[in-house]
Amino acid sequence: MADRDGLIWFDGEMVPWREAKTHVLTHTLHYGMGVFEGVRAYSTPNGPCIFRLKEHTDRLFNSAHILNMQMPFSKEQLNEAQRAVVRENKLDSAYLRPMCFYGSEGMGLRADSLKTHVIVAAWEWPSYMAPEAKELGIKIRTSSYTRHHVNITMCKAKANGNYINSMLALKEALDCGCEEALLLDNEGYVAEGSGENIFIVTDGVIYTPELTSCLKGITRDTIIQFATQLGYQVVEKRITRDEVYVADEAFFTGTAAEVLPIREHDGRKIGSGRRGSVTEKLQQMYFDQVTGQSKDYPEWLTPVL
Ligand code: PMP
Repeated sequence: MADRDGLIWFDGEMVPWREAKTHVLTHTLHYGMGVFEGVRAYSTPNGPCIFRLKEHTDRLFNSAHILNMQMPFSKEQLNEAQRAVVRENKLDSAYLRPMCFYGSEGMGLRADSLKTHVIVAAWEWPSYMAPEAKELGIKIRTSSYTRHHVNITMCKAKANGNYINSMLALKEALDCGCEEALLLDNEGYVAEGSGENIFIVTDGVIYTPELTSCLKGITRDTIIQFATQLGYQVVEKRITRDEVYVADEAFFTGTAAEVLPIREHDGRKIGSGRRGSVTEKLQQMYFDQVTGQSKDYPEWLTPVL
């Protein structure tokens, strides 16, 4: 990733990609106290547009607030930085990575007198999973790792260190021949994937875990709005793993994963064993929206040019 052409926004300036470096005594590198976002820009008839930029920037600031990190830039500056990295790297569609980290001013856990640094990078990242997974669905397994407890790490912060748990769970799932993990909370209820929220469909009703240990996903919110618009009842509640086994449909949502059907969970076929009709409708609405084919929520698309 480091050896390529391009520009990265770094503390207010565009820096050549290869020179966007930091010291080995960077505080966040040692303890994981940092916050980030995963954002996408899509090619639309109005040129590249960033999907739900405002909500992603709001969540970044909320994450920093939760961790008590001082933000040296305003939301407007970071929104502009995100538009600029897509524009100046001449990207038509992109994955964007804003990230705030503590510098190398000190190493103590007190973390006093540390400076928050901010980067925004953008690159092409067409599909998180194999492209056919959008139709065929993926195989998942229940993780042996428990999702964060709400009073151990702060689950509503998209914090760097929280992703150790995600990476362990994903690696375990991949090693078992699955494509993603499903993490349960500390009480054994379904929480989320390593980087996605989960939905199930049973008897025409759509269920998703309540916002306790899972991240307040922006795609989750988009899908809830679409489903409601289509007339579905959407219920946020505690879900057990065996409710997923017997669901008619299940799917993951996330900025990177988009809307991804789940065809098998712990060796059990879900519904028909491929993308279900409700998932397909919501997935189509999602792609129509992000690529500017739908006129429903123009405020969700921020032009880059
Ligand atoms: N849960 C976790 C743990 C995630 O990392 C993500 C990706 N940001 C999500 C859920 C989905 O969130 P969003 O739809 O905002 O990308």
